[in-house]
Amino acid sequence: MTIKAVRGTRDLLPPETALWNRVEQTAREVFALYNFAEIRTPIFEDTQLFARGVGEATDIVSKEMYTWEDRARAQSEKAQSLTLRPENTAGVVRAYIEHKLWERPGLQKLYYIGPQFRRERPQKGRYRQFYQIGAEVIGPPAAGSESPARDAEVLEMLVTLLNRLSIKDWTLELNSVGSPSSRQVFNQALQKALSGAVERMCVDCQRRAVTNPLRVFDCKVPEDQPIINTLPRISGFLDEADRKHFVEVQAILKATGVPFIINDRLVRGLDYYTRTAFEFTQGSLGAQNAILGGGRYDGLSEALGGPRAPGIGFAIGEDRFVMALAAGSETGIPDSAAQAYIAPLGEGMNVPAAKLAREMRSAGVQVQLGDESFRLKKSFETAEKLGIGKVVIVGENEVASDQFAVKDLKSGEQQKVDRAQLRTWINYFVWLFQERDSSGSATPASYGLPSPTITGCRKDKFVCFVIR
Ligand code: AMP
Repeated sequence: MTIKAVRGTRDLLPPETALWNRVEQTAREVFALYNFAEIRTPIFEDTQLFARGVGEATDIVSKEMYTWEDRARAQSEKAQSLTLRPENTAGVVRAYIEHKLWERPGLQKLYYIGPQFRRERPQKGRYRQFYQIGAEVIGPPAAGSESPARDAEVLEMLVTLLNRLSIKDWTLELNSVGSPSSRQVFNQALQKALSGAVERMCVDCQRRAVTNPLRVFDCKVPEDQPIINTLPRISGFLDEADRKHFVEVQAILKATGVPFIINDRLVRGLDYYTRTAFEFTQGSLGAQNAILGGGRYDGLSEALGGPRAPGIGFAIGEDRFVMALAAGSETGIPDSAAQAYIAPLGEGMNVPAAKLAREMRSAGVQVQLGDESFRLKKSFETAEKLGIGKVVIVGENEVASDQFAVKDLKSGEQQKVDRAQLRTWINYFVWLFQERDSSGSATPASYGLPSPTITGCRKDKFVCFVIR
């Protein structure tokens, strides 16, 4: 029996991994613009961190965590319950407390990229190992951590990222879930309203009504919706400070041109959220259309034994971002084919081929190096299959020879280039492949190159060097 990847996990293969890299690279660039720096926390943590930080009553903690008893291996070690992280905010806040990051000046603006683990029912867009790109702004209130300006800035940063990735057709849903005191009053009202109705609702809702009534709003069961529609909403229970905070967030979003809709049913799955809660959905994704979510967690640090440190953050579902990117035709999978193919023909040609490859790569040309087992025709075919070889071949008739043969694979034309000119050729290819969008003032003639072949090269990125 062959061994397969575990249910809910998957291999990410090229060329799709190029899209993942593009998402991560763009995220890093955008976060840097807003002065965020990277944090990397461990993939497993003490189970207590999530029980306390995410909340015992949440689906994540009660049903979805990968938890195991890690036995002591030495007398100095204690047996411990450990858990693969189901999310990263609790880990970041643990690190904030552990390293006393509040002693550093200003606010901590931290981002992370990495895998998270939840034992959910796998389906398209929902995995048991999935990837999140997230960021947190956390710090003492005196540094401005509570300000609605933080919330608005984080949301505006997300819109910048979506725009840079050309992810379209998204909707930002916004709500305020209030401070704990507002929520307590709301919870009582909700419980009261639920008491008459909950037996007609699904088993999950019956459980939620007891453990955490707010979660009833997460219910997706169609039959429950008419009942849920009649329940009171948190918006009617916000206190004056909550309301003012929420109004200010909206005012800044409007001023900075961030479109949003208010969804007063939005409660999010984690216990630690206070005030601003948000979710972005995307049109092309079907059932699992939430591409990112986040919100404010003013009490989390204290819940984990730290100082008062209000914060706001988000987690992007990277798997879903990549799906949205792949779905948008404008931004297909980037062409990752090498720019040049070097085929050493015949025994002993690996050495000069390696030298040529080194020279070209150090000039910035992306090179695929073949091996001497290839015959000439086979080399063309291989280069072509790899999406590389179509236009030019530089062949060394003999290793000792001072001339390379240059062949246009398309027209079959062949010409000779002096070894001394090879550098010029390489420079030309560097210009051709890497700076073709620049001023365009360089012409083949300015490189001492014959025009016709080169004009053909412009559109075709295929080069094959054959050494024989
Ligand atoms: P959460 O940490 O639950 O707030 O989720 C934030 C984002 O992570 C969601 O909007 C999804 O895009 C993504 N996400 C959450 N769970 C999964 C999963 N099991 N598989 C793929 N993406 C997920």
